[in-house]
Amino acid sequence: MRTALVVIDRVARGLDRPFTYAWPTDGTVVPVGARVRVPLGSREAVGVVVATDAALAADTPATALRPITAVLDREPVLPEDLLALAFFIRDRWACHLSQALRALVPAPVRRLQAPPLPGLYAVGAGPARGSRRRALFECARVEPGVDASRARAQTGASAAVLRELEAAGHLRRGEPALPPLPPARVALTPEQTAAVRAVRAGAPGAEWLLEGVTGSGKTEVYLELIAATLAEGRQAIVLLPEISLTEEMRSRYYARFAGRVAIFHSAMAESTRVEEWYRVRRGAAGVVLGPRSAVFAPCPALGLLIVDEEHEPSYKQEEHPRYHAREVARERARLNGAQLVLGTATPSLESAHRARTGETGFLRLPNRATAQALPEPVIVDMRQELADGHREMFSRPLKRAIGETLLRREQAVLFLNRRGYATSVVCRDCGLSVKCPQCAVSLTVHRGRGALVCHYCFHEEPLPAVCPGCGSSRIRSFGVGTEQVEEEVRRLWPAARTLRADADTLRFRGSHQALFDAFRAGDADILVGTQMVAKGMDWPYVTLVGIVAADITLTLPDFRAAERAFQLITQAAGRAGRGERPGTVVIQTYNPEHYAITAAARQDFGHFYALEAPFREALSYPPFGSLMLVEAAAAAEDEARALAAWAATAAAGPDVTVLGPAPAPLERLRGRYRYHVLVKSKTLASLLLIGEHLQAEEPRLSITVDPQNML
Ligand code: ADP
Ligand code: ZN
Ligand code: ZN
Repeated sequence: MRTALVVIDRVARGLDRPFTYAWPTDGTVVPVGARVRVPLGSREAVGVVVATDAALAADTPATALRPITAVLDREPVLPEDLLALAFFIRDRWACHLSQALRALVPAPVRRLQAPPLPGLYAVGAGPARGSRRRALFECARVEPGVDASRARAQTGASAAVLRELEAAGHLRRGEPALPPLPPARVALTPEQTAAVRAVRAGAPGAEWLLEGVTGSGKTEVYLELIAATLAEGRQAIVLLPEISLTEEMRSRYYARFAGRVAIFHSAMAESTRVEEWYRVRRGAAGVVLGPRSAVFAPCPALGLLIVDEEHEPSYKQEEHPRYHAREVARERARLNGAQLVLGTATPSLESAHRARTGETGFLRLPNRATAQALPEPVIVDMRQELADGHREMFSRPLKRAIGETLLRREQAVLFLNRRGYATSVVCRDCGLSVKCPQCAVSLTVHRGRGALVCHYCFHEEPLPAVCPGCGSSRIRSFGVGTEQVEEEVRRLWPAARTLRADADTLRFRGSHQALFDAFRAGDADILVGTQMVAKGMDWPYVTLVGIVAADITLTLPDFRAAERAFQLITQAAGRAGRGERPGTVVIQTYNPEHYAITAAARQDFGHFYALEAPFREALSYPPFGSLMLVEAAAAAEDEARALAAWAATAAAGPDVTVLGPAPAPLERLRGRYRYHVLVKSKTLASLLLIGEHLQAEEPRLSITVDPQNML
């Protein structure tokens, strides 16, 4: 008897494992990856076949198996080699198997009953007569590979007309003839060449960290590696942290891999997403570009995975399944015998640690690829500005630099990391920010409580009236937002043309692209923005980057605050001086001696790592330990707090440190009170066991393994 292992597509206790069914009694074939309807108790359910003919337990009588009622997909949607990733995700981030399975295939593809056929191509001169026939033929001639239903809709041709033209050989379906690959645009530097050689010589499944300063030519290294992968008849996936960056990068990939690039992201039209997905699955597109979910692209012979800007927190999905694309990529590389390259100027401590302990390969590009030097850093001590009687938002050096940039008709980016919640206090005279004595994270102002609170352990102390370090009364929180920065620019330089990029101005689909294109085209002199302008953009006329308030990031209530500050400043500074003219970066801070600031100013990750790693190790923060965030949310505050208190008690054990319960930095979200418990351990395994136990006992708790964002 033939059998199938089926995962029920429902999130429920007791269903989080595959069940064995017999094949349908009518002889229908059951492919792995297909959706099926099966009996479940007294009812029916939909599930996904994850294996067939798996070994049955010896004591299972064959007659006890119930048969599958119906096979729902004519062709299976789930690529077989991706199924293993669902089990990996479930085990690694403590989610439900059915949730992990849903992540593998984009929703519009999942909804299809059968895969679309390849597009239409015109052959020869076409039919001699018939206006509909001519129109359909012309449509395929003008747009080779056009989707058949779209072509029919455009021309009003019936299915019969289409069949007739196909039968007569005027139209055929298939893949386009690809133009030959153009030659590389640049000759690689010796450093770039060495990096390419090292990866090419590596074993299947091997991993490298490519640590290269901004503008060192990492992208050119990727392009070369991809070209070599394509030449072998294999495919490559390039992950980028955001949709906007995918859009920024696509022209470089199109130019090099004409006709072979597929873009994967959720902001595209559904029909395009389906077409691209199947183009990749058929092997017709060899290069996939997209944000984190592109890690699941159905490449038939994957040879290379690249995670660009590997440090970006956006690679961690914050809803279930809460996977980290970098780690999924690692697992996928292992399963497919592909190679994995993580590239960045500012590695995550996790990747840096792996590379420095020899667990992964380590490649460095310490210089910019072009003759252009790294931007000249200017650290402005805001305490001194204040002492000299200058209390404005822009310091004297930044004002001067902006004025000069405008005079030279070059562009400036003013950067402010403002995330309108969690504010910490900073002393304007000595730069001190008050930290938790136990967790070493910045305390956060709670006006309601009139107190400073630690969001890890709930340590609480009164809001200081004077600085505990120097006694100054000028200790307060930051009140600046991007809007105020823009206003100040308009006040000081009324003739300058400004643009603003933040979550408010970029709410709409495609608005990033329009705004960034306008800026690149020179339609504005100054761009004011949040962290979204700090990443990977290549704007050749930007010669000045101003970091308006570096301390906002440095004092985030998160153990990664210094890492984030280093990353944001380095990346933002990397936008300056990428073209012909040299760049300058001006960093305004009350903590000019902090290693995150001084290292970022010099783009010196090694220096930052040397000081940050011991701090992490001393407190068992990642990469020297693992974290699990347990969240209790309820409409009533007492209920949320009680639930969290229960979790804190239940999580206690010999291998772990339990912090909290504490109110979440965003204490109320969508009408619900939120409390957090943070569980720390040197071993991931003990955390996962505790997580499983908590979830089983109390399904209302939400559990995040390795949270990237503690809000
Ligand atoms: P990264 O990805 O490290 O920021 P890019 O690959 O974008 O760097 O390169 C930065 C700039 O340097 C780009 O304009 C790129 O075209 C140019 N570049 C990169 N490598 C070379 C090279 N070998 N020769 C000349 N220009 C190069
Ligand atoms: Zn002080
Ligand atoms: Zn604390």
